[in-house]
Amino acid sequence: MRVLSVVEESVVDGPGIRTVVFTAGCPHRCPGCHNPESWNPNGGENMSVETLLTQIQHSGWDGVTVSGGEPFLQPRELAALVRGCKRIGKNVWVYTGYTLEYLEQLSDEHVTDVLNQADVLVDGRFVESMKDRSLRFRGSRNQRIIFLNKV
Ligand code: SF4
Repeated sequence: MRVLSVVEESVVDGPGIRTVVFTAGCPHRCPGCHNPESWNPNGGENMSVETLLTQIQHSGWDGVTVSGGEPFLQPRELAALVRGCKRIGKNVWVYTGYTLEYLEQLSDEHVTDVLNQADVLVDGRFVESMKDRSLRFRGSRNQRIIFLNKV
């Protein structure tokens, strides 16, 4: 998986204390992006999902957030990471510039797997005119915190 960075002990990317995996590569190029260094799909470094999971397990925080960049640029790896995180009992949030509706209509097995496994999807591009600093866990009002249905 192409990873820009892994940040430990985050309290701003979901509830509790979390490990945050920032993936490399983003096609959305939102004006006002907080993280333009993440746009290059060749940025960062290659890390295996197994290596990431070992670090996550060792860190021992409440949850894991996958952000970017655009995590869904690497759907196979993202699905494996989310599945592995759930296997070791982590709460998992995934950020994306796509909307849930767009991702669902792709009918991609790995994308579907992510949506079935993750606890929360924070969706939508960052829209500068809707920027609101009072929002928790998202940058602009169009973005949604979606609790994915679990039985
Ligand atoms: S989706 Fe996120 S990382 Fe990508 S350009 Fe927009 S704000 Fe930046």
